[in-house]
Amino acid sequence: MKKTGINASPGIAIAKAFVYVKKELNISERTIDDIAAEERRFNDAVEQSRAQLAAIYDRAVAELGAEEAAIFEAHAMFLDDPEFVGAIENDIAGGTSAEIATQKTTDMFSAMFDAMDDPYFKGRAADIKDVGTRILHNLLGVPMVDISHLDEDTIILAEDLAPSDTATMDKAHVKGFATDIGSRTSHTAIMARSLEIPAVLGLDDITATVKDGDTIIVDGSEGVVIVDPTEDEIAVYKAKKEAYDAYRAELAELKDQPAETIDGHRVEIVGNIGSPADAPGVLENGGEGIGLYRTEFLYMNADVMPDEEKQFAAYKSVIEAFEDGAVIIRTLDIGGDKKLPYLPLEEEMNPFLGLRAVRLCFQKEDLFKTQLRAILRASAFGKARIMFPMIGNVDEVKQAKALVRACMAELDAEGKAYDKNIDIGVMIEIPSAAVTADIIVEEAAFFSIGTNDLCQYTLAVDRMNQNVSYLYDPLHPAILRLIKNVIDATAARDDRFTGMCGEMAGDPYAALILLGMGLDEFSMSASSIPQIKKIIRSVTFGEAKAIADDALSMKSSADIRSMITAKMAEKGIKLL
Ligand code: PEP
Ligand code: MG
Repeated sequence: MKKTGINASPGIAIAKAFVYVKKELNISERTIDDIAAEERRFNDAVEQSRAQLAAIYDRAVAELGAEEAAIFEAHAMFLDDPEFVGAIENDIAGGTSAEIATQKTTDMFSAMFDAMDDPYFKGRAADIKDVGTRILHNLLGVPMVDISHLDEDTIILAEDLAPSDTATMDKAHVKGFATDIGSRTSHTAIMARSLEIPAVLGLDDITATVKDGDTIIVDGSEGVVIVDPTEDEIAVYKAKKEAYDAYRAELAELKDQPAETIDGHRVEIVGNIGSPADAPGVLENGGEGIGLYRTEFLYMNADVMPDEEKQFAAYKSVIEAFEDGAVIIRTLDIGGDKKLPYLPLEEEMNPFLGLRAVRLCFQKEDLFKTQLRAILRASAFGKARIMFPMIGNVDEVKQAKALVRACMAELDAEGKAYDKNIDIGVMIEIPSAAVTADIIVEEAAFFSIGTNDLCQYTLAVDRMNQNVSYLYDPLHPAILRLIKNVIDATAARDDRFTGMCGEMAGDPYAALILLGMGLDEFSMSASSIPQIKKIIRSVTFGEAKAIADDALSMKSSADIRSMITAKMAEKGIKLL
């Protein structure tokens, strides 16, 4: 059976399926005749949970380090907590089933933690829920679905993957993703590309049609998934995988070559990352620096608000990884589809148009200043730049810069070092900012065009909604005109530059157009770097300018795509 979805991350994977659906537990009231036997069942489930957590802890220490693993040690401690375990045992002694007693006590403790003001204790609510769920699974003999430790090569099939799933999954064994929902710019797609894992998203019902253990082919380049392939199909895709891997190996040879045209027009190719762990991938693929560090993942992967020290350590480690290139640290972009479990926010009708990114940071000034101080302190260790997301007008830039200056004054008073000349730039991802780039440029040392949001806001197409994904098109003439307007605002100034960190920067169909328009910096997922470098190195700047002019004069993206396809064929460049 062949299914077609969105080609979200290139490459081919052939492996067994793992259907990652969190199973509902069936817990019903029972009359307990033998209380001692029920107590033994509970104790056995606790011991099993203890052994599982110890094994997970050991593997996590080996693979992720002691700091990341500490959470599992904390979970195991709840199993020894006399108040938690004692409350369950009391209920069992009174004739309640072990399942009901565990569920009731877990709910009670997690509600109690959740009601606390202290963010540390609030964060414990999720932990105790995890532990309670583990005991319940063991009581009922239902294995926990866990993708953090897999025994064999696996393709994960899920409705969607949360950032926490992708952060904790077993990266050595996960060979591909296929999901029911999602789009090219959803965070699952972005994560798959940065991990270089082939992915097809938006398949509607893949989790309902595939069983655990079925053999699956994921062709992330074409957006195709084949369930239970024939021998012939497996042979065809093995050959395709070999060709793909060989082409990637050929591209890898460009690693240390500059991103410059045949006649020497040089641009910068840099990487997008979500955590310090992604930095080596950028270096290995020949990225010269970081054009977008999405700092929100540091917050999303934590149980409590990360403090200044934790942030400082993360930012410093990335800055130190790039001795020669700059690291653009984007301030917190929460809101929209990204939430923090420990930061309650009002429900909004249109979260992408709501209290998101700098808008939220202006409301939570302490939170914002903690981050700005951490970035500034890290800037003493290399070349850092600060970038604000979701800027809609020049006043917001002035407001954000005033807060940076306030943090600088605090650090001066405390005698703490930072880069006094740090560049402060702006993401251009709201149409109002793109149109008024000539005004905003006065306050911004650089621009970075965020096409993921710029497209959704300009085209009125939700970037997460596959029903309208056919309308989501970075080559729409409206998008090209806006991009041109932004680049033109910095073009005449030596002290300013325009980069792009939206997914379009790594799109092989867009590369020559952007190059010809004069884009200075291309920032993308690590795996896209080699191909874009190859494309840039295949033309003269004059050729690229002519291609950009052609594209800007065309009436539809279909015409633009055909023109680019023909150019690539002419140059003998394959499109991954
Ligand atoms: C963008 O909007 O293009 C962007 C790079 O930011 P994010 O995908 O994190 O919204
Ligand atoms: Mg954005």
